[in-house]
Amino acid sequence: MNSTKWVYAFEEGNGSNKMLLGGKGANLCEMTRIGLNVPPGFVITTEACLAYLADSQRMLPDGVMDEVRANMAALEKSTGKRFGGAEDPLLVSVRSGSAMSMPGMMDTILNLGLNPTTLAGLIRHTGNERFGYDAWRRFVQLFGKVALGIPDALFDEQFEAVKSSAGVKADVLLGAEHLREVGDRFLEVVERHTGRPFPEDPYEQLEIAIKAVFNSWMGKRAVDYRREFKITPAMANGTAVNVVTMVFGNMGNDSATGVGFTRNPATGENQLYGEYLTNAQGEDVVAGIRTPKPIAELEREMPAIYAQLVDLRNRLERHYHEVQDFEFTIERGTLYCLQTRNGKMNAASMVRTSVEMQREGLLTKEGAVLRVNPQHLEQMLFPRLDPAFKGVALATGLPASPGAASGQAVFDADRAEALGKQGSKVILVREETKPEDIHGFFAAQGILTSRGGKTSHAAVVARGMGKPCVAGAEGIQVDAGMRVAFIGDQVIKEGDVITIDGSNGRVFRGEVPRVEADFSAALETLLGWADGLARIGVRANADTPADANRAVRYGARGIGLCRTERMFNAPDRLPIVVDMIIADTPDERRAALDRLLPIQRADFIGLFKAMAPHPVTIRLLDPPIHEFLPTERQLEEEIERLHDLRRASRGLEVLADATRGQDSRPASPLRESLDTRQVEAVIARKETILRKARALREVNPMLGHRGVRLGLTYPEIYNMQIRAVLEAAANCIRAGLQVNPEIMVPQVCTAQELKLVREHMEAVKHAVQVTHGVDVPCKFGTMIEVVRACMRAENLAEVAEFFSFGTNDLTQAAFSFSREDAENKFLPMYNERGILQDNPFEVLDVKGVGRLMALAVEWGRTHRPDLKVGICGEHGGHPASIRFCDSIGLDYVSCSAPRVPIARLAAGHAAAGASATGGDRAA
Ligand code: PEP
Ligand code: MG
Repeated sequence: MNSTKWVYAFEEGNGSNKMLLGGKGANLCEMTRIGLNVPPGFVITTEACLAYLADSQRMLPDGVMDEVRANMAALEKSTGKRFGGAEDPLLVSVRSGSAMSMPGMMDTILNLGLNPTTLAGLIRHTGNERFGYDAWRRFVQLFGKVALGIPDALFDEQFEAVKSSAGVKADVLLGAEHLREVGDRFLEVVERHTGRPFPEDPYEQLEIAIKAVFNSWMGKRAVDYRREFKITPAMANGTAVNVVTMVFGNMGNDSATGVGFTRNPATGENQLYGEYLTNAQGEDVVAGIRTPKPIAELEREMPAIYAQLVDLRNRLERHYHEVQDFEFTIERGTLYCLQTRNGKMNAASMVRTSVEMQREGLLTKEGAVLRVNPQHLEQMLFPRLDPAFKGVALATGLPASPGAASGQAVFDADRAEALGKQGSKVILVREETKPEDIHGFFAAQGILTSRGGKTSHAAVVARGMGKPCVAGAEGIQVDAGMRVAFIGDQVIKEGDVITIDGSNGRVFRGEVPRVEADFSAALETLLGWADGLARIGVRANADTPADANRAVRYGARGIGLCRTERMFNAPDRLPIVVDMIIADTPDERRAALDRLLPIQRADFIGLFKAMAPHPVTIRLLDPPIHEFLPTERQLEEEIERLHDLRRASRGLEVLADATRGQDSRPASPLRESLDTRQVEAVIARKETILRKARALREVNPMLGHRGVRLGLTYPEIYNMQIRAVLEAAANCIRAGLQVNPEIMVPQVCTAQELKLVREHMEAVKHAVQVTHGVDVPCKFGTMIEVVRACMRAENLAEVAEFFSFGTNDLTQAAFSFSREDAENKFLPMYNERGILQDNPFEVLDVKGVGRLMALAVEWGRTHRPDLKVGICGEHGGHPASIRFCDSIGLDYVSCSAPRVPIARLAAGHAAAGASATGGDRAA
């Protein structure tokens, strides 16, 4: 004998069992339990749904219909109506509802129980023929569509035919007679389509309807929706069926239907919000046939009901401790609550209501923090496209840095800078960007590239600056030489205005209206509470004093990564860096470095001042140095043009000699301005650079001569940087500032490398301390971004006082996926086919990379228990990844300055034990 309980009356269930009763069913039970006026009803469980779907005959499990009948009998008793009765018949709605809200994805049938007999009874009882026939035709259509699979169009056709013969345009103008005809025609549609008459037995109707709702769980719409929103069986498995007594808002002017929000969802303001329609059914509100009235008008129209509605609102919030979005119906002066669920709001409203509800005693600080999804804060931190805008995108790329920006398309950094200086708004459009484009970034409103992933240069730099970036929009072909871009058959010329949305990767032609960022006082308060809960600290990746100042404003407690190479790219420094690179001897190199030293020192002083007294982690030079040189192709082209110029200059000389004494005109101004010696000097320098670029060429530069390998080959470079850091610190200390520099070595794979750099550091430190007469505290540490470094963590910790996981490179190394290319080539396919659940460059791969990290932390601390450990890869700003970092005992995360608020909130969530939100799902 099967003892499973398949059906729960609303009085029996409660709100906590959403997996079994579905969200809607659980809430209906809960509302009934707390004494709200919910129309009586019951829930058929998701277990019944799963058992039904598993049955090859598609039979309802034994006992379901018996329990349904028993519960219908109880409904008859409590309403005094009879299901299928000829007088005052009981009608019900049959609605789906799974554990996760899937709006509009599954099916609902209203007015079930009607047939010619009950219809006559309904009309007699209400004395309202029009109402009766209207209910009937709605039921036949909904049942026909949902339960019998008849296309809506067949019904609509008949409906239109009646409207046209009656000479009316709007449904509401149809009289009882017309609606009766509609009903008759609908019955014919059913019979024609199914070959059988419309089922009249109410229990047969009910059984068919229950099966139809169960089937809709596996309908295409619902399956697609679950795939799109990553709703797994652990989150929602099967749909429940809610059978609820019908109440009618269209029974006259003392009836109405509406929707309410316990607070204004657009602003978060603490006021009852919503709209309603008098003498109407819920469908009419949704279908937009009539314009609903603001809820405030109900106070005038039905003052007693309005007072009840305010009371309902207060009780809902006091019970759920959450803003509610509820549906109500007023049937002949009685208020019913039909449904409630947590209100969906924008980020600003969520933050405001969190803070206000804490102050009203409805939430604890922890509850207030946990209510807000950290990722949603993006909406408040960056400008966005106006949500009302519905334009079609010209192209789509990767959402690489959030926010929206408009400006004239420009195709090189110099043009961007020139136009920016004139006050124009520009979007820098490149195939990909390189460090030498940095001045273009400063001038641009946003960056668009046709190649590269979310950790490409463009993406990382734009994120650091808080500028929108769409990367890897491969549908765009950029021709920088011609200053145009092609997208299919469309052309974007320099100066054409475009808009990019870095939050979803879309690109539009023209200027699209935006909504500005809104870092409110309420957000400040909420983040303060999150800080109070957090175990893991939040630092920023910042390369300039301006970035650092912004990071401080956003609440960063230190810099976790300063990429010093970014400082080399400013136009006044690059020529010196090039001199350093093309130097043939250490002495020549030192001469160039001597010129860089004061510049770097000043940079570091700026950073220390901005961050004092918090730590500032400075990473020694990392990228392969050829990145500071123009490409070989560019150099070859430039040299060729210079040769042309030299030839022209010689030609001018020949011309001048040939015409001397014969021509009275003055010498050509071109000739005057062409200094052959200068041209030759420039050619010679370019050729030297080209030779160097060729000599530095590597097949695989990301795995090549970079990071500590470079630092050990040319020790004078790291020596200069170390000296600049320590002298800057000494200067600050002498000026009374508290500074905490941390020197970090990139790309380390063995303790030997670290030992050598540390020896240099100790020597320089000693010298600086003697010269300046102060003690300079400075920690020495390493990036962990190479698999071997994880495996040798114990040995590295003998030399390093801290570790910082560079998870961009570590992910690249662990997967052997190029961080520049994978996101545009095969990763989307991997995600679509479920080979990988997430993009590992965005969401930390807990199962692989995460395990390496956990081991490295454990082994590192075995040798040095107080080893400080952080993360500075892009994952440091990703909430689920932050939760993982917290769980393995990291001391801090470091992310681009504009993501700091998101990370602070995520750190609070991690400490408060927020449930998993992804990040550990790589297959
Ligand atoms: C990293 O590899 O994660 C990192 C922070 O360094 P970069 O992105 O500069 O290589
Ligand atoms: Mg790296």
